[in-house]
Amino acid sequence: MTRETIEAKAARYLAEGRLVVTLVLGDEVTAVCTGETGAYDLGHTPGRGWWCTCPVRTDRCCHLAALWLVTIRRPMRPAAPSAVPASRAA
Ligand SMILES: [Zn+2]
Repeated sequence: MTRETIEAKAARYLAEGRLVVTLVLGDEVTAVCTGETGAYDLGHTPGRGWWCTCPVRTDRCCHLAALWLVTIRRPMRPAAPSAVPASRAA
């Protein structure tokens, strides 16, 4: 049996509904991922970077890879005037 890559495992976790994103607020992200050996908290914190509570202890675990497939970080900034829906702009 060939070893499953991190990317393949991450995609499978998404397909199996193992990843639950609990917060996305600007540059801050938190989620819970249920892996083969348990459920782990993970996310991104401004100034700390990406983190995961699983034993891998690097940013190359399948839990973070799954989270990266479904999140885009966007630093907080004041709402621009263009944020007004076009239908109400006039
Ligand atoms: Zn992990």
